[in-house]
Amino acid sequence: MSATDSKPDYLISPRWLVPVVPRAQVLENHLVAVSGDKITAIVNRQQADQRWPEVKRIELPEQVLMPGMINTHCHSAMTLFRGFADDLPLHGWLYDNIWPAETKWVGSDFVRDGTELAVVEMLRSGTTYFNDNYFFPDIAAAVAVKAGMRVTVGLLIIDLPTSWASGADEYFRRGIEVHQNYINEPLVRTAFAPHAPYSVTDEQLAQVRLLADEMDIPIHMHVQESPWEIEDAMEKHGIRPLARLEKLGLLSPKLMAVHMTQVSDHEIALLAERGVHVIHCPESNMKLASGFCPVHKLQEAGVNVCIATDGAASNNDLDLLGEARTAAFLAKGISEDPHALPVADAIEMITINAARALGMEHAIGSIEVGKQADFCALDFSGPESRPVHDVLSQIIYATNREQVSDVWIAGEHIMQKRQLPRMDIKDISARADQWGERLQRYRTEHRIANGKHND
Ligand SMILES: [Zn+2]
Repeated sequence: MSATDSKPDYLISPRWLVPVVPRAQVLENHLVAVSGDKITAIVNRQQADQRWPEVKRIELPEQVLMPGMINTHCHSAMTLFRGFADDLPLHGWLYDNIWPAETKWVGSDFVRDGTELAVVEMLRSGTTYFNDNYFFPDIAAAVAVKAGMRVTVGLLIIDLPTSWASGADEYFRRGIEVHQNYINEPLVRTAFAPHAPYSVTDEQLAQVRLLADEMDIPIHMHVQESPWEIEDAMEKHGIRPLARLEKLGLLSPKLMAVHMTQVSDHEIALLAERGVHVIHCPESNMKLASGFCPVHKLQEAGVNVCIATDGAASNNDLDLLGEARTAAFLAKGISEDPHALPVADAIEMITINAARALGMEHAIGSIEVGKQADFCALDFSGPESRPVHDVLSQIIYATNREQVSDVWIAGEHIMQKRQLPRMDIKDISARADQWGERLQRYRTEHRIANGKHND
């Protein structure tokens, strides 16, 4: 706890404050001082009254203020595919349904409209920062900047011609261009995003490693998502995907390995030794029946684990609070240990652990003096939130995303009492509906049906 004497721009006065660092702390009667985009002080009420009686206060009398949540794995534009192909296994879902539809429909307009829809949903769910992985990352970056939201856009690499790039050279060239165009934009960062071991060549992976070191950016990749991926790798390469990445020098603290549902004890030790971050997407994994990420074992080995939603085509929402609750329940269920993934861990996995994975721990992920003023406020005024025995328990086990009342990013009050002044929600929803109609016609013509209709 410390305070500077310079006068802040405003003070936020919540009923409860969950700074995340120090771990599991809950403060009452404390105010957060903000100047520009930064947190300048955390003081008790008496200190605030004495020092800054005239400074504007934002009163949150029945709310808890916590760091803005960070979604470490998302394909935001795929929100337009929500409910498009459900109840299918990963391989058939991706190869027979999603990739052909993407080939037909995905372009800059699709990505703009889909990302705007996702950004609205995420902001209204308390997410202030997302780690995206999709075509046209330049468009996703522009949408985030317009919304005032933080993003790491993935510079996608996939061994497949698409409307974004025709081949490896163009993927790299366009990706580097996006990186350079946004280098001075404080809300935007970039990461290399080789799609998955089965869709990227050794040569491309070697190039990713080289450039990621040179440009000093992270690598964001789906790894060992399903049993099919392991079988395919054994057949084509004679080794498991993780062993292949190790051989190519990709296992390092730069790598965010998404999913990791298929993982041996030896691989857990290797992930810990190399400092790889694991991104756990429990709802997507369960929906595609891909398997379960052994979060409890990974944590015990010292691996940094984060929780993310994946895209709305396989989830089907971008609700990080709901995802954290699912992760907590699932970890207990599969480890048969109720102590697994306690609430303090779940909160860290959507805040400070995520900041660490993205190389942003110095600036975000907790409410500490000197960090960026990124917050979300959860409204506990309703009977559903009473009584409050334990604020952290309440956040994870008994709060839904409609209770997110306010959001701040870089000091800007982006969502005020659930209103988003920067976003035209009516227009965004209308454009999503138009895509819905187009995709519905295509779905009928191509006889795409949800799994339950195929039986
Ligand atoms: Zn994904």
